[in-house]
Order: sequence, then C-alpha cells, then structure tokens
Amino acid sequence: MQVSNRVRGIIGDGSDGWDVYYRARQMDADGINVTHLTIGEHDIRTDPTILDAMHAAALAGHTGYSMFNGNLNLREIIASRVAERTGVATTPDNVLVVPGGQAGLFATHMATCDPGDHALFIDPYYATYPGTIRSVGAIPVPIRASADHMFQPDPSDIAKAAKDGAASLLINSPNNPTGVVYSQGTMQGIAQTCRDHDIWLISDEVYDTQLWEGTHITPRALPGMDERTLVIGSLSKSHAMTGSRIGWIVGPEDAIQRMGDLLTNTTYGVAGFVQEAACFALTQGAAFEARIAEPFRRRRDLVLAQVARQNVVRAIPADGAMYIMLDIRATGLSGESFATKLLDTHHVAVMPGESFGEAAAGHLRVALTVADDRLVAAVAQLLDLARTCAL
Ligand code: PLP
Repeated sequence: MQVSNRVRGIIGDGSDGWDVYYRARQMDADGINVTHLTIGEHDIRTDPTILDAMHAAALAGHTGYSMFNGNLNLREIIASRVAERTGVATTPDNVLVVPGGQAGLFATHMATCDPGDHALFIDPYYATYPGTIRSVGAIPVPIRASADHMFQPDPSDIAKAAKDGAASLLINSPNNPTGVVYSQGTMQGIAQTCRDHDIWLISDEVYDTQLWEGTHITPRALPGMDERTLVIGSLSKSHAMTGSRIGWIVGPEDAIQRMGDLLTNTTYGVAGFVQEAACFALTQGAAFEARIAEPFRRRRDLVLAQVARQNVVRAIPADGAMYIMLDIRATGLSGESFATKLLDTHHVAVMPGESFGEAAAGHLRVALTVADDRLVAAVAQLLDLARTCAL
C-alpha cells in the first residue's frame, strides 16, 4: 500500500538538505564532541516560572478539551499585545491560537490556497515552507532574493511572479535563515504588489522579539493590508517555549473564523495548561523577552567582529533572529562541500545555505545557539578553514 501522492510529494524522494545535520547527530551518537550550530533552538530551557504556571494550571484542572480556536483569556492577551505593538486595532475575534507557528503556516496556506494554486515565497526560506505549501496541494513558487542585495526581496520580482496568478505570498522578517530584516521600502513594495494582484500576504513574524536594529515592521499595519494579511506569531522563539507548541494567527475576522473550522477538524485545540502558561509568559513584560533574546544579540556582535578581521568570508549583516549567514563563495566551495569539510575536520556543524534554497548557495547559516566561548572557537575554526581553502 502506498500513501497518497500528496503526502509522498511533500518532500519527494531526494535529499532534504539536512545531511550535515543528520551526520552530526550520528557523530554525537558515536561519542564525538560536535559543536552544533545547526538548529534554531535556545541553549536555555523554558523559564521555571513559566513551567510553574503550566504546572499550577494543570493541577487547577486545565487538562480537559479547550476551545478549539483558543481560550478567550489568551486571545485577549494576544489581541492587546498585537494592537499595542503594531497600532492596528485587534480584538480576540482576529486571533486564533494554534499549536506553534508551523501549524499556523499550514492553516494559513490551507485557508488561502486551493489545490493547484500558486503560493509564492521568498528564497532563501525556512526549511518547511515548500513542503507546507505542497501539503495543502498548492504549488510552491520561490522568488529569489539576491545575496548581492543583502537578501532583501525585490518587489518587482514578486510582481512578475504574481502576474502568472498567485493566491498567496509568504514572507518572513526578521528572517530565518539570513537574519535580514526587511526594510520599510521592501515592505511597502510587497504590500503594493499584494494589493495590485489581489493576493493574500502571510507574514511569518515568529522572530519579532529578536531585533537588533530598528523597530519591527509588520505589513499588516500598512495601508489597506489588514484585510489581506495573516500574521503568524509564536512563543517558541520569544519565550524559549519551542516544545510547548503554541502560537497564533492574527487576521481578518472572517478568515479567522473559517480557519477555526479547520482547527476543529485538524488540531482540535491546544492543551489548556499550555494556554494558561502562555497567558503567564505573555504578561511578563518586555524585559523578560529581552533577556531571552539578549544572548543572540551578544553572539551576533561577537561573530560579526570576528568576521570583520579577515577578508575571505563575508557576513550578511544580521539585524534580527538567531542566525548569521556567511558568504563563503571566495573559497570556491559550495556551502554543502564546505559544511561537510568543516564537520569532518573540526567537528563543527553548520547548515549549508543550499538547504534553504538556491539563492543561499555558497553560504553557511550559523545558529548562534551555543555558549559564547564555544561559538567564538567554532567560528575561528570555520574562518581558518575558509582561509586554507581560498589559498
Ligand atoms: N517560522 C520560522 C521562520 C521558523 O524559523 C520556525 C522555527 O524555527 C517556525 C516558523 C516554526 O516555529 P514554531 O512552530 O516552533 O512556532
């Protein structure tokens, strides 16, 4: 028996670009001490105060079915947070609680694309984007953002792709894998294109608390955009709650209500004790969130300073998120060959840019997710290898 074409087609039978990661895990299992700079996960765990709130909520009885679209108290907190941070009027009816940003990516594409529709997204991209689009039966259409333009997408490229018909455009700022934050001009151009071509904008903002320069720009706040923008938020990155699986979608009331029907028939709600813990976490204030983001800002500065002291490897100036993208094209190696060599020779695991799309070929994504001294030592080894390769 075979599973459906749709499910088999989510990834296809080829490599998923994560070979270096899997090999590094195998080396761990073989007892080799590998420095992992691959996965976007904090090196701290969920704060004990959040776990206490979760435990207390479970003991208080929040262990049964909860509202499929999210409990009202949590939707109220999310709505006020979004209204305060963006200036866009937002009520609980604009909010849907989902089991993590990934579930939000799936639900928003289900809600905006019919089978066979074109779903646009920006390359380089977060690894699950094309698979998520295929899993709803839509056709993923990547739009390249060039390394030479610091991975800011060119709205005219989006407009060109939209001319062939598109149901949705997915963007992500602050960006994984590049660390780039889209400028006001880029966002305005994107918004204009979405309005001109009548397409939905899905804005993945799961890194909105990890911003090292400027202020967070949400396209939902741009003129005429709140009626066609679906914003994805999550507590995974902002509150180091990756394993709790909780996030949200914010958008127009009607779309939110329809997506509620989807959740009733798919996820069936998020655990009540996790929702209560999210209420606690989201009311701890900006200083609490800044403390969680701080190590990435500090490590970003450390790595940029290291890279500035040599001239083989070039860093893409990261303005947000927990990654730095390094351009290693001067070594003459692909990202994949370089990452493999680095793992073999120095036991340092980084992600080849090619894992995130063609636009990031010849680059490496370094996750800033280990202690400062270990990170600095690993980056020094990376730069040393690059120098040797470039000779
Ligand atoms: N979107 C982006 C850009 C990500 O980097 C991630 C996780 O790394 C997600 C969405 C999914 O996050 P979660 O489902 O944990 O909220």
